[in-house]
Amino acid sequence: MPIDLSELGIDGIFGDLLEVLGIRSGQRGHVQRQIEVSFEEAAFGCTKTITYERVAECDACGGSGAAPGSRPRRCAECDGRGRVRSEQGFLPFAVDRSCPRCHGTGRLVDVPCQSCGGVGLRSGPHRVEVEIPGGIESGTSRRVDGAGNVVRLPGRGRRAGDLEVVVEVKPHPFFRRSGDHVLCSLPISFAQAVLGAEVEIPTLDGKGFLRVPAGTQPGTVLRVRGKGLPRRLRGGRGDQLVEIQLEVPTELNERQRQLVAELAEELGQAVQPQQRTFMDKLRDLFE
Ligand SMILES: [Zn+2]
Ligand SMILES: [Zn+2]
Repeated sequence: MPIDLSELGIDGIFGDLLEVLGIRSGQRGHVQRQIEVSFEEAAFGCTKTITYERVAECDACGGSGAAPGSRPRRCAECDGRGRVRSEQGFLPFAVDRSCPRCHGTGRLVDVPCQSCGGVGLRSGPHRVEVEIPGGIESGTSRRVDGAGNVVRLPGRGRRAGDLEVVVEVKPHPFFRRSGDHVLCSLPISFAQAVLGAEVEIPTLDGKGFLRVPAGTQPGTVLRVRGKGLPRRLRGGRGDQLVEIQLEVPTELNERQRQLVAELAEELGQAVQPQQRTFMDKLRDLFE
């Protein structure tokens, strides 16, 4: 039963040679890169161009490794197959392994290409466009077939690995995400909360409006339908959920202070529903 050493992912001297040239051939050419997208780009999808270092066939020699004007010749040791069979003294079977003379390529280069040192591969910048689908979550990855490093797969010639693009979604200063919904907080004034108001809010689509009903309590969550993220499976969009916060004015002039004091006095006798439940709860605690 011959064991194919090359199937163990050992690239032998050829691999070492690549490494000397600053080329890593490991993991079957798989390349991973990270990109950052904005919250909006992640929500609606986008196309991103990324540039990265990649090992590909050398332009100067067309991947042959031979200097222009010369050609590689067939390796006599393995008859161009790239593999030789050898009996190992300590193993009870024959071992099929990479040809040590041509490093498994089946070809020998007499005059190496200056550009790649005879390897036929070179590292250089590469650009690809990556489609980011709408609704993508941070940490998800996209795969671009054949955009990884070109590596020599033992016995199977050269092949380009894949590029894995890990998408990081930048945090938004105003929005957070919860499934298909977009969450945000909105500070409103005491007067707006009491009297009700139509307030301007940011949405994923730009400026939007939210009707705050009179008597809205802080902590209330108002729903703006259809302003969330696109639903990838069901279609349509999630909602924008707006948590109302109360903005308490801190710098009042004398007249304003007077008016608030008067209002407080006026409201003194009235017990608000929220206060009543709070007092009830407090009472329950001590009973
Ligand atoms: Zn070359
Ligand atoms: Zn050979």
